[in-house]
Amino acid sequence: MSEAAPLLQVDGLRKYFPVRGGLFRRVVAQVRAVDDVTLQLRRGQTFGLVGESGCGKSTLGRSIIRLQEPTGGRVLLDGTDITRLGRQALLPYRRRMQMIFQDPYASLSPRRTVAQTLREPLDIHQIGTPKEREHQVSQLLDVVGMSARVLNRYPHEFSGGQRQRIGIARALSLKPDLIVADEPVSALDVSVQSQILNLIADLQREHGIAFLFIAHDLAVIQHVSDVVGVMYLGKLVEVADATALYSSPKHPYTRALMSAIPQPEPGSGRQRIMLEGDVPSPMNPPSGCPFHTRCPDAMAKCAELTPQFTNLGSERSPHAVSCHLYGHDS
Ligand code: SF4
Repeated sequence: MSEAAPLLQVDGLRKYFPVRGGLFRRVVAQVRAVDDVTLQLRRGQTFGLVGESGCGKSTLGRSIIRLQEPTGGRVLLDGTDITRLGRQALLPYRRRMQMIFQDPYASLSPRRTVAQTLREPLDIHQIGTPKEREHQVSQLLDVVGMSARVLNRYPHEFSGGQRQRIGIARALSLKPDLIVADEPVSALDVSVQSQILNLIADLQREHGIAFLFIAHDLAVIQHVSDVVGVMYLGKLVEVADATALYSSPKHPYTRALMSAIPQPEPGSGRQRIMLEGDVPSPMNPPSGCPFHTRCPDAMAKCAELTPQFTNLGSERSPHAVSCHLYGHDS
């Protein structure tokens, strides 16, 4: 693979959940949780995925690493299409893709000590000798800023922040190339959030790990991301370099989200854009642009024509927006 090739390439990924009904439990509808998503992630880069809850960002993260089976589209890791690999063939790729969960308490077994939790992936993948595994477990704790003295303790003996550190150590145990972090700080106290975010930023820098960082909080996403993708109703609507997106959001939905970020000085902020109505059901998404039922800038054609992506940036630093305000046909 060439240096320029992305670590992760996602092409037209879809994840639909069937809705069954009637006497024979036939499929009567599909929930389009992820609908035709394309994105790229380079080695050591952090892609921040943001959107309201229920927009499909967690399902997208899980489908990429095949914790959930995609309905369609492709996921390429280092150029290999992993979407249709069987269990055995997937194993070496699974090792390279790990996940950090929102609720570290729910994702750690209450009956396993820290040592057992961290050793498990090393045992499954038979990494090194038993002695080497023991040493590696202590090293992992060191990397996440914890002492080896806690090795024989259980999850309930730790605070939320410490549990998340253990979850991160577990994700690091197989030296992954890609980590999907699904709302990793939203269950933590604000005072602990920045410690965990800084730890993630250090790991990205020192170990060259790529992150798909999922969050609903725009300030959190800004803190860690190189590139940001905004998701609405299962689709990406804007993708750009973090600096460009935060300084000059283009899509009306992104602008509405940005307008809700509290400003440090009262009066210095942009005007808040209030969105009318609820997010439509992903079982029956609106025709044309999925945002047209709530968009303050909607035009007649928005209900009929699905907007394509337009690049408002450069080839080197794309700023892709899916909106008729910027399309060539507008
Ligand atoms: Fe709004 Fe139309 Fe743009 Fe959709 S395509 S975001 S409805 S202006």
